[in-house]
Amino acid sequence: MYLGIISAMPDEIHSVLDSMTDVTTTTHGNRTFHKGNLYNKPVVLVFSNWGKVAAAITTTQLIESFKVNKIVFTGVAGALQEHLNIGDVVVGTHLYQHDMDARPLFKQFEIPIIKKTAFKTNATVTQQLRMASEKYLESFSNNLDTTFTKEFGITNPKTYYGGIASGDQFISSVQKIEELNISLPDALCVEMEGAAVAQVCYDYKIDFGIIRTISDKAKENASIDFQKFAKIIASKYALGILKIFLS
Ligand code: SAH
Repeated sequence: MYLGIISAMPDEIHSVLDSMTDVTTTTHGNRTFHKGNLYNKPVVLVFSNWGKVAAAITTTQLIESFKVNKIVFTGVAGALQEHLNIGDVVVGTHLYQHDMDARPLFKQFEIPIIKKTAFKTNATVTQQLRMASEKYLESFSNNLDTTFTKEFGITNPKTYYGGIASGDQFISSVQKIEELNISLPDALCVEMEGAAVAQVCYDYKIDFGIIRTISDKAKENASIDFQKFAKIIASKYALGILKIFLS
């Protein structure tokens, strides 16, 4: 059985792929899958594409075409809470689709038919990811170039553990953050894929875990922070955390 690794960042894909051995690359449904070994463990790596629908298609293809029993998602996200900083890591415990709203037929955020407002991640995978992230961030100063970490004000990055909100919007306004803080007070960060992947894993009974590195504060300058951060830092985080997770 393979571990499926879905990443939302091309930079993360490149850094993980560079560390893989015995790679076979195939394409299905406009997605490129890399099967091989990562730190001596069998994995299939794929770029999620962006947005909920695209990520759900990728996940379904991954499950249908490869023997995966577990999926780990890595990517970046905007912070929804003041105490989170750029460079912190959120390990997801449950995921919401913040743009799902079929009121008055169903309550806000409820996914029709399956009647769920949140998808829980697998407890074992999540615990392992949490430990891997904590360990990685402990040795953080040894792993990153401080010129960049200073530029982003990353001094003491931490691992947080909690809810993630996903939706088909890049959030870059204080007003939207405030709305989300009211409607989903336990969501730590916002992104565009996680809960869609979680829904597919729920239907297929696949163990699912997710880590999101905070790339921006989802405020007006989110897109500027985002671009710089993704290239320089996020890709190193993903590989560093996966290395400990797989060992
Ligand atoms: N502007 C980018 C587009 C990336 S889409 C580019 O052209 O390269 C944004 C990706 O980052 C998605 O994977 C999403 O999940 C995540 N993300 C990071 N910050 C976000 C935010 N503030 N709101 C929503 N998604 C965010």
